[in-house]
Amino acid sequence: MDFALTETQEMIRQEARRFAQEEIAPHVKEWDEAAHFPRDVFRKMGELGFLGVLVPEEYGGAGLGYIEYITIVEEIATVDPAIGLGVAAHNSLCTGHILKYGSEEQKRKYLPKLATGEWIGAWALTEPTAGSDAGGTRTTAVRDGDHWVLNGTKTFTTHARVGDLLVVMARTDPESLNSPKKHHGISAFIVEKGTPGFRAGKHENKLGMRASDTSETILENCRIPAENLVGKEGEGFKQAMGILDGGRISIAALGLGTARGALEAAIEYAREREQFGRPIGSFQAIQWKIADIATELDAARLLTYRAGWLMDQGKSCTKESAMAKLMAGEVSVKAAVEAVQIFGGYGFTKDYPVEKFFRDCKLNTIGEGTSEIQRLVIARQILGRLDRKK
Ligand SMILES: Cc1cc2nc3c(=O)[nH]c(=O)nc-3n(C[C@H](O)[C@H](O)[C@H](O)COP(=O)(O)OP(=O)(O)OC[C@H]3O[C@@H](n4cnc5c(N)ncnc54)[C@H](O)[C@@H]3O)c2cc1C
Repeated sequence: MDFALTETQEMIRQEARRFAQEEIAPHVKEWDEAAHFPRDVFRKMGELGFLGVLVPEEYGGAGLGYIEYITIVEEIATVDPAIGLGVAAHNSLCTGHILKYGSEEQKRKYLPKLATGEWIGAWALTEPTAGSDAGGTRTTAVRDGDHWVLNGTKTFTTHARVGDLLVVMARTDPESLNSPKKHHGISAFIVEKGTPGFRAGKHENKLGMRASDTSETILENCRIPAENLVGKEGEGFKQAMGILDGGRISIAALGLGTARGALEAAIEYAREREQFGRPIGSFQAIQWKIADIATELDAARLLTYRAGWLMDQGKSCTKESAMAKLMAGEVSVKAAVEAVQIFGGYGFTKDYPVEKFFRDCKLNTIGEGTSEIQRLVIARQILGRLDRKK
């Protein structure tokens, strides 16, 4: 679907498609099986501007908007959702956080390296006991002269092991943890790889998205300069929620790509595979599956573009980005499940791409807020906080 992309946007989409076909497609299976993060491919994507899509040119980025960003993530994820996840996490989370909330000095220091792919970015909010309830962050940051000292464990950090720079949320007001104001006691910090006390812990052996590095972040008396605080003390949770508005658009785009990759494979197979003397695509049962997925995928894409458009206009899009992420994530699961069904027994083997989409897709309903949390966000935007009215 073209969705009235401008000529330039269409060129960017074509470039992302070409790159994915030439540089990623031949290796998808190998990277998945070995759970290998292809650093070289990220370097090449950096050269093309795919790792600094939203970063202004003055900081070394491509200076593009969300519509272009959505098309890039979708095209890459159509070929390999695991690489799409890396692009999304790098752009929206770590880079996005510094771009949106960093000081001028922090932007000048870090954005050129991130936007060009010289450095890979990571962003650590989730903890073993603080997932959906990220306000329960227990990692601490204590001021000590000209430094902050960080202690704690973050879990499921994309790029914790392969990354060069981390934005981490930590509690600067320890008293706040068990108070109603727990969200206000959290701050955001920048930690560079190589800082003593900062290391990656357990590398997750995952169901899907295996070429994406997901590891623990361990902080043990990690001393960072005071100027590595991002924005003001106590604003970290608010900043993180602001970052997730954009992040959810990128995971929605990831969902679009995952769904499209599964759908395209299923369409091709439905045309070729014959049973009862005719292509299985001639059976209404198969046609309806394809019709439903194609329709829901287009609906998800329209929601995603709407959220991206609002972002580009500088308008609030908390509800719209949650709707896009919810819809696209769920459609990607449906598309992958039905694609395996259309492939029959062959869909259950590693000889065809749909089993990988089947494994990868589930992340789209979990990462950057589960589908349940998206519904909670949408409902709160519509109804307000009824739980706080009494
Ligand atoms: C591959 C991968 C990459 C990730 N990358 C990052 C990253 O880079 N940085 C980062 O910080 N995090 C990352 N995450 C973490 C991810 O954001 C969390 O896994 C997610 O937010 C859910 O948290 P949880 O896993 O602790 O689940 P939980 O919060 O424990 O949720 C468990 C279940 O309970 C449901 N639930 C929880 N609360 C409610 C509620 N109030 N109402 C209804 N249902 C509820 C959830 O929807 C879910 O079904 C990543 C996760 C994965 C799997």
